[in-house]
Amino acid sequence: MIYYGKQSVNESDIEAVISVLRSDFLTQGPKIEQFEQRVAEYCGAKYAVAVTNATSALHIACKAANLSHGDTLWTSPITFVASANCGRYCGAKVDFVDIDDNTYDMSADELEKKLAAGSSPKIVVPVHLCGQSCDMEKINALAKKYGFAVIEDASHALGATYKDTRIGSCTFSDMTVFSFHPVKIITTGEGGMVLTNNKALYEKLTLYRSHGITRNPEKMTKPSDGPWYYQQIELGYNYRMTDIQAALGWSQMDRLDTFVARRHQLAQRYDELLAALPLRTPKQNPDTNSSWHIYVVRMDKNHTKKSKQQIFEEMKARGVQLNLHYIPVHLQPYYQALGFKAGDFPVSERYYEEAFTLPLYYNLTDAQQDEIVGALKEVLS
Ligand SMILES: *Cc1c(COP(=O)(O)O)cnc(C)c1O
Repeated sequence: MIYYGKQSVNESDIEAVISVLRSDFLTQGPKIEQFEQRVAEYCGAKYAVAVTNATSALHIACKAANLSHGDTLWTSPITFVASANCGRYCGAKVDFVDIDDNTYDMSADELEKKLAAGSSPKIVVPVHLCGQSCDMEKINALAKKYGFAVIEDASHALGATYKDTRIGSCTFSDMTVFSFHPVKIITTGEGGMVLTNNKALYEKLTLYRSHGITRNPEKMTKPSDGPWYYQQIELGYNYRMTDIQAALGWSQMDRLDTFVARRHQLAQRYDELLAALPLRTPKQNPDTNSSWHIYVVRMDKNHTKKSKQQIFEEMKARGVQLNLHYIPVHLQPYYQALGFKAGDFPVSERYYEEAFTLPLYYNLTDAQQDEIVGALKEVLS
């Protein structure tokens, strides 16, 4: 069976992990900072904070931006639930901005309209779906005009660029979040990171990552009691990444550009091989260079007699497990109970009717890709 995504772990990665297992520190050791520095340098950001996963990264990013009860967070309906749940963790209201029908990212025009209509969020979380950047310049200009913070959910987009900036540089945002889940561009098993150029945000992020505890005398409310002393000055969490994970991530960074280059090749091959099929292949905004986390096609319902259920089943019978990214978040029962209903975000809902995800990962061979396309031709004919 060919699945939609899969990690690539080589001998150097394994050596890096083993060396931590043989060292003095499995957690809170030197590997975390090395991994953080490497990702920050690659992306061109000043600060990076490694955490347990992108979900906790989004949570502490929202906390650092002071999201709280009575505030509102906006994100895209076409994303993983975590992009919205981070707002709920902080007791905030969540709302959505419909997607652009070409890029499937949050539509900056829809965002502008919604802001002009009078409501104003505290935080907007644009999601770089599939690895293609949102229209960050416009979102950033709106953020300045209307006074909201921007947290990029770049879980798909490590290694991607936007207008000569790397995603993660936070050129057009306050913070950027990456995921290192095994299906993502690089992996640490489970893992995530928040990047920022803002020192005050960085200090808050490190505090929230580790219980709200500080050992810095300058941050304390009174002089230290002695060398054992620390103070809890905020309510934080234990969201620390282990050194075992950080070593894997640090080693995976060696091949980040190689991973992305192969993903590009495969995406380009899909574009060519699928051109004659009744499918809409992904469109790219020329300002962006995607990291191609996933390759999403949309079925042309006028030229396909089969339902999506049938297509999934028949592809599975041919050894290919299709996937769908994503079920619109506002249609999840949890969000429906908060008042959202079908019809609220029509472009996202039409996308959901038509879209499915083809396998795409570094180790996928041309021969496997030919098999996938061959199977799809049979199923769609
Ligand atoms: C994977 C993903 C997340 C969550 O990442 P974890 O590291 O699994 O917590 C959040 N948002 C998006 C868009 C994702 O794809």
